[in-house]
Amino acid sequence: MELIIEQIQFILLIIIFVGVLVILILKFGIGLYLKYGNADTDKCPKCKGTMIIAKSRLYVLPIRFDETHKQMPEYYFENAVPIENEEQIPTGNHSCYIHTLQCQSCAFKNVNVVDFLKVRDKEIIKDAQEYPYEVFQDFLEKI
Ligand SMILES: [Zn+2]
Repeated sequence: MELIIEQIQFILLIIIFVGVLVILILKFGIGLYLKYGNADTDKCPKCKGTMIIAKSRLYVLPIRFDETHKQMPEYYFENAVPIENEEQIPTGNHSCYIHTLQCQSCAFKNVNVVDFLKVRDKEIIKDAQEYPYEVFQDFLEKI
């Protein structure tokens, strides 16, 4: 009887371990996918050509930790402050990458906004949205 209980405990431990592993892989995988992979595998909605990241800009946002903001382009126009690299992100502040995606076949453009929180060198993706390029055009071209 005791042996069976020990075996069950052992199996449960393995299940928990595998579960945690899967969650970690998914979390990092999705994060990396959003940051680097998404654009390269995206298909153009017009011609199904390959969309690549033509330009990436990094911005810091004036909200911290678990605070949220309105998911609309105007929020970024009014609040996003351009920075050079991730070293310039104040601890606990949200930041975002605004990627300009461009189709390699027909030059169609799209904008991908990836909102993230950097905590001790780890990036936690808070949100990712796609918008038509025209919406962000003025904002992206003014700087
Ligand atoms: Zn295209």
